[in-house]
Amino acid sequence: MGKLKVLLVEPSYKCKYPPLGLMKLSAFHKKRGDEVVFVKGTIKEKKDIMWDRIYISTLFSFYWDLTIRTIDYYEFSVKDPRNFYIGGPMATIMAEEIKDVTGFIPVQGLLNKEGQINLPNEQNIDNMIPDYNLLNQISYKYLSDNAYFSYTTRGCIRKCPFCAVPKIEPLYQEYVPLSKQIKSINLKYGRKKDLLLLDNNILASSCFEKIIDEIKEIGFFKGAKLNGISRYVDFNQGIDLRKLSKQKMKLLAEISIRPLRIAFDDIRLKEQYIKAIEMAAEYGILNLSNYILYNYNDTPKDFFERLKINVDLNERLGTKIFSFPMKYIPVTNKDRLYVGTHWNPRFLRGIQCILHVTHGVVGPNKSFFEAAFGKNYSDFKKILLMPDSFIMYRESRKKNKVKQWQNILNNFSNNQRSFFMKNILQNSYSCVSNDKLIKKIISFYKEK
Ligand code: SF4
Repeated sequence: MGKLKVLLVEPSYKCKYPPLGLMKLSAFHKKRGDEVVFVKGTIKEKKDIMWDRIYISTLFSFYWDLTIRTIDYYEFSVKDPRNFYIGGPMATIMAEEIKDVTGFIPVQGLLNKEGQINLPNEQNIDNMIPDYNLLNQISYKYLSDNAYFSYTTRGCIRKCPFCAVPKIEPLYQEYVPLSKQIKSINLKYGRKKDLLLLDNNILASSCFEKIIDEIKEIGFFKGAKLNGISRYVDFNQGIDLRKLSKQKMKLLAEISIRPLRIAFDDIRLKEQYIKAIEMAAEYGILNLSNYILYNYNDTPKDFFERLKINVDLNERLGTKIFSFPMKYIPVTNKDRLYVGTHWNPRFLRGIQCILHVTHGVVGPNKSFFEAAFGKNYSDFKKILLMPDSFIMYRESRKKNKVKQWQNILNNFSNNQRSFFMKNILQNSYSCVSNDKLIKKIISFYKEK
């Protein structure tokens, strides 16, 4: 087989981290001497070329429409349709549906088996050093462009029903050698400042201590610098609270971890979570980050409580916990419209409006938190009920209107209130009513 012309495509969705699968495919093809081109989204000039191979990556199921459009866009740009490959998380979880809609059978799971892309040595692709140069071919900027992207374990020991990992990486591999990968990256692409580890459950590994030793050895010990600039380790998927111990926290404190990410998905883990943060503070890890899942089995009340716990911990322990609320969407939903059992469309929209102002993050500052989310759950609920623009500008240009809105609400009879709530909680503004107060308050929600 001669030199191949290969097109790698990532659909034009927003994403923080580069497509590692495509980067490894690029390394694999370049090693064979093939020509590799990478694009983000649909590019006419690339569509008009006939390629020997096209690979399309996928991510979340709620990017379904955009991903399918991208597949349709390039499907006739390959010489032989058998050399058109679709892979990645969504392709693995929704393989059947993708096949029904596009006619292509996706490659499922990691690229570590024979017969997936029908080329010699394909079973080694997942272990290859990603091609960092590939990212220079596009103008899109990922979150970190000066970091090693790697794994020290694969898969996870748990099977949380809201998570795609057990389907994509069903086997837990508790050790993936790190130093060799880093040495090869240094040789090929130069040293990187930070280390981004994409492990799903590092704490479940019985080799945890060995992994920490390796991280220190490759230059990410506590206080590490590169050319005078601090370098950090980030386990970006977070660590598993239930697998944490004093000994493990002590080991984590020996590396230049920042931030330490801990998921706080369930209020029933409150005691354990607080203990974990206290432990982190005790060992001097003060920069923390926290994934807060909502719209799952939780309630708006416990969502607020989880955020508030962080703010209180910051005050008490001097930590800086940044929370990232993550809205739950079932892993096979094709849009983001899912509403959890204890939630309603108005509250979900309200949270989106607050997070729009805070750029998706809940910072450690108490007064800022109280201004954004309210001092207590009752304030929080009131904020979520407001029209979108009132939530965002309630302390500025909408201040007077908020007062009017509040007055109307305070003066509602029980019947008026229940009519209003019934409609507004569903974000339904087309309700018909001759009631003056109802008409007035609904008009606020229709304002641009
Ligand atoms: S512990 Fe984390 S990675 Fe593992 S299955 Fe649960 S959510 Fe997924």
